Amino acid sequence: MNTHYQFHFDDESYTANSAAKRALQLKDEINRASKLYYIDNTPELNDAEWDARMQELLKLEADFPELITADSPTQRVGAPPAEGFEEVVHPIPMLSLGNVFDEDGLRAWHKRALDFLELENAPMVCELKIDGLALAITYRNGVMERATTRGDGERGEDVTANVRTIKSVPLKLDSIKHSVPPLVEFRGEVFLPNSLFDQLNADRHAEGLTEYVNPRNAASGSLRQLDSSETAKRPLDIFVYALGYVEGIKEPSSHWNALETIKSWGGKTNPWTRKAATTEDAMKAINEAFMIRESIDYGIDGVVIKIDSIPLQKRLGAVGRDPRWAIAYKFPAEKAETTLKAIHVNVGRTGALTPWAELEPVMVGGVTVERATLHNKDEITRKDFREGDRVVVQRAGDVIPQVVSVSSKNKRSGDSTPYKFPNTCPSCGSNPTSSDGEATTRCINVSCPAQFERLLEHYASRGAIDIEGFGERVAQDLTRLGFVSTISDIYKLHERREELLKIDKMGETRIDNLLDAINASRQQPLSRLLFALGISGIGSESASWLSRRFRTLTGVRNATIEELIKIDGIGSIVANNIVNYFNVAKNLQLVDELIELGINPIDNRPESSTTHPANGLIFVVTGKLETMSRSEANNRIKSLGGKATGSVTGKTHYLVAGTNTGAKFDKAQRLGVQIINEMEFIAFMDEGTVPIQTE
Ligand SMILES: [Zn+2]
Repeated sequence: MNTHYQFHFDDESYTANSAAKRALQLKDEINRASKLYYIDNTPELNDAEWDARMQELLKLEADFPELITADSPTQRVGAPPAEGFEEVVHPIPMLSLGNVFDEDGLRAWHKRALDFLELENAPMVCELKIDGLALAITYRNGVMERATTRGDGERGEDVTANVRTIKSVPLKLDSIKHSVPPLVEFRGEVFLPNSLFDQLNADRHAEGLTEYVNPRNAASGSLRQLDSSETAKRPLDIFVYALGYVEGIKEPSSHWNALETIKSWGGKTNPWTRKAATTEDAMKAINEAFMIRESIDYGIDGVVIKIDSIPLQKRLGAVGRDPRWAIAYKFPAEKAETTLKAIHVNVGRTGALTPWAELEPVMVGGVTVERATLHNKDEITRKDFREGDRVVVQRAGDVIPQVVSVSSKNKRSGDSTPYKFPNTCPSCGSNPTSSDGEATTRCINVSCPAQFERLLEHYASRGAIDIEGFGERVAQDLTRLGFVSTISDIYKLHERREELLKIDKMGETRIDNLLDAINASRQQPLSRLLFALGISGIGSESASWLSRRFRTLTGVRNATIEELIKIDGIGSIVANNIVNYFNVAKNLQLVDELIELGINPIDNRPESSTTHPANGLIFVVTGKLETMSRSEANNRIKSLGGKATGSVTGKTHYLVAGTNTGAKFDKAQRLGVQIINEMEFIAFMDEGTVPIQTE
């Protein structure tokens, strides 16, 4: 067969059949060339050769549109602008990671895992912690079907059209070495290379657009373009770090093997990955990563350490959202010195008066910092920060930059005086208070305009109800001009379109876009609405748990403290905040109004663990088990809604007996408590098979 490339441009003699054949050949050649270029770094075709094939394929697809398939490289150029992003529930939640900051922290984490498993050692794998955005990419029968952002871990946004434009994401998996399962999900981190970030910002500057703060921000902005042809212009890249949901294959035995398999399928994994038999090995790897971080073209903020064995990962499970089998070792924060130009006070959504520093712009860890938090009044007094001081500023990863101390080289002039914290709220002028045990000074005026503006801004923000175009300025204008004085007023704005048109700075198109965006946001799920209300301590993840447990706004409103603290991850402080929130007349009125206006989403997601037959039952585990440790068994029981206790009483439902049992076994027999063995216990937990009582 002639493998040399031949032009077929003027060939009009294609039949549907021969066109399909030729298209298939071209797709394979281009996909292969892309993989060699973008993933393996060993280009095979030159640009002209690549272009010629692409042009021919485009022409074929124009003539025979049925040849346009999801895995065609022509689909990387982007699709027409989308209306918005659809929400997708992750088949397996995308977990977050706990953090450690030093060797002791790392050792303690590893020891906890070993104790849990009752094992002497468990080897690990170390990977760079890329400062990007987590993504899940699903392949059905080897063809990329969908890409979803992490979102709140339970559900994210469908960004398929955009991810298709990322050249290092294979559109079709390679099955030469390992067969590709019917369904497989890659989990990876999308990022923008540092070198290209500067270029992107220079271009944006030239076009008069706002520049991005850092590469992570730019990656996020690029991934969330409604117009994917815009994303296609951004040089995003990816590293796949794990398999997510998989159907139809035996899972790899170790994380290391999983990475090898991903690589063989054509996924781009990070070349810097280290095995570590002990925490000492892991520390060596961490130090090595710290050294190379300046020389690589993407941001890393630490190293992720994972227990290598996948069966052990499964046994370890998660506490709340943090897996027990993985931890992030965070690199120390980056610091710089600059001048504190002025101290300002901001009024937050909950009335907190937060001081912040206006700084002489300074580069900290690759980002220009002009503002940094000063935390609270006490912090300023304790560290004696004064306007005009030389100060040390630090930032770590995503965290807001902070002023940590006055520089040792600081020299004060004679007229320098200690900073005086304002004794009135800068927004409403009322007297703020500091409650006991709380460092925060708060404005407690329920009608404080600044607080309401912040709440409105938060309500409409992207992670919350997500009303496009409803930012800080709009929130300010609508409140100050009297259009909105409570959240429910947002949904009455369409009745006042004529009046809104009279606001000279907005204009008809912007008003109509805003009204459309408000209307579109009415469909948001309950979890977002709960987060949007701004109840103290409720983040997007806890809002999701509340939603799943109580299903409706009324359900959450009527929840008791006892019910709330039963939710994994919700403690008594947050439970109290929720109950207190719904005890305030103004808030109850808001909920009623929202429901009346049709803002009353229902969460229909299937129940998770609460329907397991072990739910509500009391267990005692005694003796030595073969396949798991006692703490692991107790953990299984708790995760399914049961109660694991240490002593046998008349209320105990089951005694799970291993070998070498003692007094508990005797007591259970005496009290007539049902005794089950390990096999029965596993069947009960895994399959929900309730053990039969045999007398
Ligand atoms: Zn105030």
